[in-house]
Amino acid sequence: MTARTEVVAYIALGANLGDARATVQQAFESLATLPSTRLTARSALYRTAPWEASGPDFINAVAEVRTQLTAPELLLALQGVERAAGRVRSYRNAPRTLDLDVLLYGDACIASPALTVPHPRMWERAFVLQPLADVAPQRVPAPALVAVAGQGVERLGAEL
Ligand code: ATP
Ligand code: CA
Ligand code: CA
Repeated sequence: MTARTEVVAYIALGANLGDARATVQQAFESLATLPSTRLTARSALYRTAPWEASGPDFINAVAEVRTQLTAPELLLALQGVERAAGRVRSYRNAPRTLDLDVLLYGDACIASPALTVPHPRMWERAFVLQPLADVAPQRVPAPALVAVAGQGVERLGAEL
């Protein structure tokens, strides 16, 4: 059997219903147990007021994984974790127990109906770029962080 190569991918985690911090922490643990996947870094947690959305504040973070899953396999696995966290798909930007997005998958550019990578809206979002810069500063150019610096994102202590 030929071993598949490992790809470094970055995943955005977001939650704003129930105990959002606990949900995000649990999601990190779930990522650590995905098949053929290692969780290799986790960002701090960040708190953000909802963006084009309603409901309680969001807790956001970014995970670095090294995975042998293909990008579509990884997305399917993430959707399984979302479902296990009780996610119900209602409408776009609706409050949700857990949202997991593929930000980057190696250097791949993917544009299929189900999956666009790099995530097309990541560069507009401080709540994505700040935690991504924690774990992958080389993937976040300084001007990109400056461009979103006006958005109110609060870094929570690492002890949480
Ligand atoms: P946004 O993508 O703006 O953050 P969202 O996360 O609220 O919005 P969802 O309802 O969670 O959007 O997902 C809608 C669809 O986006 C999913 O069914 C999925 O197939 C598709 N999708 C496309 N690219 C990605 C990606 N990079 N990561 C996760 N889902 C993606
Ligand atoms: Ca999202
Ligand atoms: Ca999503």
